[in-house]
Amino acid sequence: MPANPLKLTVLGSGTSMGVPSLGCPCPVCNSSDPRDNRLRPSLLLSRNGQNVVIDTTPDFRQQALRAGMKRLDAVLLTHAHADHIFGFDDIRPFNLRQNTVLPVYGNKEAFDVLRTAYAYVFDGKPKVSSVPMVTLHAVNGPLQLLGTTITPIPLIHGDLNVLGFRFGRAAYLTDFSEIPESSIPFLQDLDELIIDALRDTPHPMHQTVEQALAVIDRVKPRRAWFTHIAHELPHAATNERLRSAGYHHVQLGYDGLKLEVEVEDAPMHGSQRKDTRQIPFRVFSSPAAWHAHYTPLKRGSVLAIGNFDGIHLGHQEILRDVAIRAASSGDVASALTFEPAPLKVLRPEIAPKRLSTNEQRLEWFKVVGLESAIVLNFTKELSLLSPQDFVEQILVRQLRVRAVLVGENFRFGHKQSGDTALLKELGRLHDFDVAVVPPVIYHGEIVSSTVIRREIAVGDVGHAGRLLGRPFVLTGEVVSGAGVGRKFTVPTLNLRPDQELLPANGVYVTRTLLDGETKSRRSVTNIGLRPTFKGSSLTVETHLLDAPKEFETKRIEIRFWERLREERKFSGPEELKAQIGEDIQRAHRFFARLRRFRSARLALTS
Ligand SMILES: [Zn+2]
Ligand SMILES: [Zn+2]
Ligand SMILES: [Zn+2]
Repeated sequence: MPANPLKLTVLGSGTSMGVPSLGCPCPVCNSSDPRDNRLRPSLLLSRNGQNVVIDTTPDFRQQALRAGMKRLDAVLLTHAHADHIFGFDDIRPFNLRQNTVLPVYGNKEAFDVLRTAYAYVFDGKPKVSSVPMVTLHAVNGPLQLLGTTITPIPLIHGDLNVLGFRFGRAAYLTDFSEIPESSIPFLQDLDELIIDALRDTPHPMHQTVEQALAVIDRVKPRRAWFTHIAHELPHAATNERLRSAGYHHVQLGYDGLKLEVEVEDAPMHGSQRKDTRQIPFRVFSSPAAWHAHYTPLKRGSVLAIGNFDGIHLGHQEILRDVAIRAASSGDVASALTFEPAPLKVLRPEIAPKRLSTNEQRLEWFKVVGLESAIVLNFTKELSLLSPQDFVEQILVRQLRVRAVLVGENFRFGHKQSGDTALLKELGRLHDFDVAVVPPVIYHGEIVSSTVIRREIAVGDVGHAGRLLGRPFVLTGEVVSGAGVGRKFTVPTLNLRPDQELLPANGVYVTRTLLDGETKSRRSVTNIGLRPTFKGSSLTVETHLLDAPKEFETKRIEIRFWERLREERKFSGPEELKAQIGEDIQRAHRFFARLRRFRSARLALTS
């Protein structure tokens, strides 16, 4: 076996109803052979401490427990039949534990069904409870996961276009009735083939044993294993039948079957394996400091470059990709970013207000799994570097770069004269990979910091939150307010925000996290000038709906969920107080609606 094989675990080898089939008196359904117990079809791929599952079956939770899965890094979907997707909601614990959005790869047909079947995941409405956090990637060619290449194989499943997958010298073809001629070349030179063989009698959407054997005869894998097996096929007796028919290299797969296959490392440098989760996150104030730390360790970098303002869904995609690539190459997963933002130095008059503070960016780099960040002080002098010098001096010499990941709009060097084409050219010259990550599209809209800033500026915090992948947040110290509001209305905490950009003046449904607490509290927040009290300076005041009796808090974090109304001037404190009472009622109704929504969903899916 090679040093770093891909490990396969059959999580389920049964047909859509599983075996035993409920209520069935047949011998297979009542067999004491554990290999006759078949959960719904799924395969686990593991390498470098990372896990990818093919399909999230209705048995996914049980399968993950049984396989001792401690982590999930991506989901591949063959198609969206119920027996392949109805465990999708159970990826949430991995979202929460790892604090990441998980990429899901599949074809458009599968995503259309997934979006309908799991409408609450994709409807963009704010939720109090967790829902699966995913980005959908329609595959149209080989993809890189687990430090290797995975190739989708188009198949026909009745009247449906579905996918099989090849990884190294193994392929997984569950659920198909026909292999298009153009897919046959993907099935040459296999060590292991896992293939649909439902039963002996024909089925419009699946292979029979005989048809599966015909495919095996044609593509000649070293070994083949059946999957998606119905209760008509007893494990031991069918294996015996295969042997006596001369198929010594073909067997029924079974739940828990483990295989190791040789795979090629994805095209990148290095082969050192490591587990990035154990490694502390380090921040460097210059590329030279990074160099001084990692050069003695003989390590290079996989690097994302950008401003990453807000760390929205698109940024998360790039950073996660960096972490995955670095995990398999042994390089340091790093982000190079700038402080202050380059535009603030070059053209302060048009520089946008920032969505996030430097601290928030660093926190997110850490959460997404990076090992280091370089916060480069952006100066006029730095801006004079030509694109070639920027690459040679900073990326190649100091950051020992092995791969660079940037967004499509990336520009670098003096007068922004370097673009992604030039970066690729310099990559060939200096022998590092360049990956240009396309923007993430959310509900048909390109996710960008510009759009998010605009939405926040007009107060649409709900929309902004969906593009960020979490609510927009203000952090800061609690300061004492004018005092006049408290006397006339309700007790509030006054925030001095760290962020530059604030939501438009108005009243918002929010959640507020107090110093030292781990769970945020329901709240209503007013941003504005307090015109009723002739206020002149902008204030951010938050009222907790369920405040603790006595508390001290120096800092708070306010998460914006929905805008209730704009700020208004009232005739006096009494009218204002009535309106605030109404705002609080609406906020209560908002949170109650979320709760009801959640229980309705539980009723549907349990
Ligand atoms: Zn199926
Ligand atoms: Zn049965
Ligand atoms: Zn199917």
